[in-house]
Amino acid sequence: MLNLVLFGPPGAGKGTQAEFLIESFGLIHLSTGDILRNEIAAQTELGLQAKQFMDKGELVTDEVVIGMIKNKLTANSEAKGFIFDGFPRTVAQANALDEMLDENKTPISAMLCLEVEKQELINRLLNRGKTSGRSDDQDESIIENRISVYHEKTAPIKDYYAAQNKHFDIDGMGSVEEIAARLKETVKAL
Ligand code: ADP
Repeated sequence: MLNLVLFGPPGAGKGTQAEFLIESFGLIHLSTGDILRNEIAAQTELGLQAKQFMDKGELVTDEVVIGMIKNKLTANSEAKGFIFDGFPRTVAQANALDEMLDENKTPISAMLCLEVEKQELINRLLNRGKTSGRSDDQDESIIENRISVYHEKTAPIKDYYAAQNKHFDIDGMGSVEEIAARLKETVKAL
């Protein structure tokens, strides 16, 4: 089983690159951002609660996202492997993920961290905001907050995976195809 954590700041290209990896390796894509946006679209209680955090660029509570991932793992017990995109985003989430995967004896294979310069992140997100309808991509102060939250709460997870020898930095600057090729090469070498 191949379980990948696709990691990096907002705008690093995780969703785009996940598409390539799914195709190449036959994995199931679990994006907490997408799951949360589906909940908002369906106007569920969970979605309404999550929206208050997402609109400000803050993280949704660990309890909520961990529960969502748990449900997806149970629902896809026959999968060849998963790409976790936007999860884990805190050390508590990383711990919870390891515990869940431990139960099935299918640990994380690698954490692939896309490295992108800050101004490039802001440009990509503002560009996406023009077409995606995502309000959190349309306001530069919310984007700045998401990037700060990433540095403060999410980036420390690199050390968590480095301690398990599972952390790989990938240059996330360049064309979509170039970055996809770098990721594929790293995964093949695992
Ligand atoms: P991006 O990577 O561009 O910020 P996402 O779609 O991954 O976009 O996430 C959008 C928002 O959803 C985040 O700003 C956060 O509020 C919420 N979110 C997504 N995943 C998580 C998570 N694992 N933990 C907490 N909040 C999350």
